[in-house]
Amino acid sequence: MTERIYYEDAYQAAFDARVERCEPAEGGYALILDRTAFYPEGGGQPCDLGVIIPSDMPCGSAADMPADELCEPAADVPADGSCGPARVLDVQEKDGEVVHLTDRPFAPGSAVRGEIDWVRRLTHMREHSGEHILSGIICRTFDCSNVGFHMGKDFVTVDFSRRLTEEEIRRAQRMANEKVLEDVEIRAEYPDAQTLRSLEYRSKKELTGDIRIVTVPGADCCACCGTHVRRTGEVGPICVTGSEHFRGGVRLTVLIGEKALADGEKKADNIAAISALLSVKPDRTAEAVEKLQESMNALRLEYGALKMRLLEQKVEAVRDGQAACVLFERDLTAAEARKLADRLREKTGFAAVFCGDDQKGYQYVIISEAIDVSAFGRELNRALNGRGGGRSPMIQGSLCTKREEIEIFLRGKGLLEL
Ligand SMILES: [Zn+2]
Repeated sequence: MTERIYYEDAYQAAFDARVERCEPAEGGYALILDRTAFYPEGGGQPCDLGVIIPSDMPCGSAADMPADELCEPAADVPADGSCGPARVLDVQEKDGEVVHLTDRPFAPGSAVRGEIDWVRRLTHMREHSGEHILSGIICRTFDCSNVGFHMGKDFVTVDFSRRLTEEEIRRAQRMANEKVLEDVEIRAEYPDAQTLRSLEYRSKKELTGDIRIVTVPGADCCACCGTHVRRTGEVGPICVTGSEHFRGGVRLTVLIGEKALADGEKKADNIAAISALLSVKPDRTAEAVEKLQESMNALRLEYGALKMRLLEQKVEAVRDGQAACVLFERDLTAAEARKLADRLREKTGFAAVFCGDDQKGYQYVIISEAIDVSAFGRELNRALNGRGGGRSPMIQGSLCTKREEIEIFLRGKGLLEL
């Protein structure tokens, strides 16, 4: 059984080991060592990546050296090219073994040195510990369970069995960050059966055998197989950036450590840009946007009123009793177009409003009691690539054509003054 260095010392990034087995596998070679610091994917935490280097290589760290140049072929090197550093592409736990997927083979029995990508691992440790602090606090304070946890490339998601209000989330976030500031020790232990029975700990499933309990005093006690930082102070800021309903509960999006800092900087830049655009201090931007909205709404109302007054003047220009009246407009809403057509029909037997332009096509409203508008609409649509309809006396629709074509059609019907 492989010795798992990450359980004794989560901070060991390099280690010496011996190859137990190495077999071709999908995407590379499945390598099993007698001991490893590579954490296999599990418990919501992604696997470690890194390199494995033959110990007889004439280099300390081979991660950034061209592999083929480094390898001095020795007498016992197999003909399959099993020399030089191997990249670790994936690490999974299978049947109790830690299986490293490498891009080149190693001879069984040979000595190797493993180096894990420490930046990646430390990020996972900070995020995993941060997640425990936040989840432990939420479960204790709001009497719910943590039902899911995923550490992604850009953020962590944590699922809880019940919905949480914005105030509750804010309160939990503050408590979690206070726990970080307290800088308490995070302990991972295997309690004996009796101690375990008396312990109240979080667990997503029924567990048997030796159970590893990770404790953050005052915040959490949880069965966990992941790697953690030594003290809460190392976690850095814990920031809940989103929440959504999820399977009857809530899914929180959380940024921890470096990612929370980067997000904070990005948001600060954004607020600085808004503040410069609005010429207000950064902490007054919401207020300024509200004022901007108010003045925009007032302008919109004023614009609407002016537009109606203009349309009214057009209506006034129509002679009473004129046989037909056709108007072409550019930017009327559907309601405005109907209103205009409605006003025109008071003066004419055939009122038509076409709104649009030659590129986008035209929306139309036609009101007439003098003709069968439904039949007229069908003919109009057929002739000018249109759609729509309605019931007497009003039809509405759209035409995918040019103004000139519409005018030719109407002139043909004697509905447009020559
Ligand atoms: Zn955990």
